[in-house]
Amino acid sequence: MQLVEIGVKCPDCGIKFTSRQLPEVYDTGIRNSELRQHWGDVKPCYEHFAVATCPSCGRADWATSFPPTQEICTLNQPQSPPHVQYRQAALRAERQGKDFYAAGIFYLYAAWCADDVNAVPQARQYRRLAAETLRKSLVDVSCPIANRAETEYLIGELGRRAGDFEPCRAYYQSVIGRLPSKYALMARKVMRLAELQSDDLIEFENVTA
Ligand SMILES: [Zn+2]
Repeated sequence: MQLVEIGVKCPDCGIKFTSRQLPEVYDTGIRNSELRQHWGDVKPCYEHFAVATCPSCGRADWATSFPPTQEICTLNQPQSPPHVQYRQAALRAERQGKDFYAAGIFYLYAAWCADDVNAVPQARQYRRLAAETLRKSLVDVSCPIANRAETEYLIGELGRRAGDFEPCRAYYQSVIGRLPSKYALMARKVMRLAELQSDDLIEFENVTA
């Protein structure tokens, strides 16, 4: 994975710092049951480099939300683990913008990054927070219409992956009737795994169909 150092400027405090980012992400179209591009031999972990934190004011957000600058940067972005940076970004999205959809996606990315460093209790907590904030995003409609179906599906799967098997089943029973077929198909598979009390990841089938 080829990282590049990009000088950026914090939109909140104006401090310039160097961030390390991935110049491009290659999408295979393959997803796991949590819709992460992370299945079989394909484990790019690109999420670790999509977040940045300002070394001065602590603003945590998508790396791309910090505009690039040609000016000389003497500071570097802090080295805190990506899952902690995503959690900060989620808290900020909830607090400042009251944007529950953005917060839910940050918690989801936090869970994935926590998985990658075996931070098991944190990953479980992030999944519960992701499910909770994504549920709120369906109510306050911060969830874009185009993402609504996948979000409804994801809420149940995040519950199962956090070990909340019975709530996952009960949730899917109430929403499965309105899910588009590819998500309904997956939801049925996830419900069966929940009945077996399994939190194993499986492949998301027909994701491009
Ligand atoms: Zn700042």
